[in-house]
Amino acid sequence: MAAKKTIPELKHLDHVLVSEVAIKKRIKALAEKINRAYRGQDLTVIAIVNGALIFAADLLRQLRTPLRLDCLRATSYHSGTQAGGKPVIVDNLKLDITGQKVLLVDDILDTGNTLFAVRELLLAKGAASVRTCVLLDKKARRSVPFEAEYVGFVIPDEFVVGYGLDFNERYRNLPCIGVLKPKYYAPKT
Ligand code: 5GP
Ligand code: MG
Repeated sequence: MAAKKTIPELKHLDHVLVSEVAIKKRIKALAEKINRAYRGQDLTVIAIVNGALIFAADLLRQLRTPLRLDCLRATSYHSGTQAGGKPVIVDNLKLDITGQKVLLVDDILDTGNTLFAVRELLLAKGAASVRTCVLLDKKARRSVPFEAEYVGFVIPDEFVVGYGLDFNERYRNLPCIGVLKPKYYAPKT
């Protein structure tokens, strides 16, 4: 596709882990599963931004159940590729989720700290149920017990960018998931 060639940062990738076509196909299958599970039921989707923005946008357009959307901001990577410990969750939800079925959407499940903490928060706010949908799952890195009900791809322990995922706020706009060439991780001097 000609449009792809116009994103210069695509050349920064060492390799592509999940292609644009594979993402599209997998999202369709995930949406079918979610549609079956929640058919005709009222659902509240909570996306964890910024990372989940692109995934949520593509997934939600394939959901056929009546739903409301809200967003939470959670930060654990302060900069670079190292997690900053306990996640900071900015609770600015506008929707009342008391008694609601909630589907949490995030880009990647890594140590599990973020989604574990967010799920606790939503249950404390009175959600009737909380299920989770992530595009990527780095199973090998889990440090708290947490599994998502809907998973796009299980990936190896590599730091990935693209399709919403960033390195120092860059690369979110790439249409695929990939690993950066080492020289692009190097701090600017
Ligand atoms: P957890 O709390 O599960 O360790 O981390 C979740 C968050 O860390 C994700 O929502 C994402 O923002 C960030 N993260 C974890 N692994 C990666 C990765 O490989 N690449 C990027 N860009 N972010 C990651
Ligand atoms: Mg995130």
